[in-house]
Amino acid sequence: MKSEESFLTNMTKFYVITMLSEKPAHGYQIITRLRGITGKNISAGQIYPLLKELERKRLVRTQPIKDGKRKRNVYSLTAEGKTFSSGLLARFSELVDAAIKPRLTVCAHCGCNVYKGGFGKVVKGRRKMFCCRYCAGHY
Ligand SMILES: [Zn+2]
Repeated sequence: MKSEESFLTNMTKFYVITMLSEKPAHGYQIITRLRGITGKNISAGQIYPLLKELERKRLVRTQPIKDGKRKRNVYSLTAEGKTFSSGLLARFSELVDAAIKPRLTVCAHCGCNVYKGGFGKVVKGRRKMFCCRYCAGHY
């Protein structure tokens, strides 16, 4: 399935960029965390080409660091990468908002958004939703 593959690659890119925006990481850390997040068996062969691509686009930079006897590449975001990542996160949170909004109930008393739970009460024959018992009592 070609489309699922490219979707996964895009999600993987998104995770990698978000991860590196928190702090620099080496390849193995990135792979381990991605496995944890996606629950998929992500291989080095999938991640290194992706990191190379991000590096080519100047979003990611590589720094060799000595780890005992071995040298490890540590990946971090460039200034461009940081700008890119905040833009990405802003768009993503808009997307999440749009996805969650239809499931929100507005408290009939204080107007706050109720995502889960809530407190229902019948007022003048109509069922109204409140965020809490307190709001229901003061309606
Ligand atoms: Zn309320």
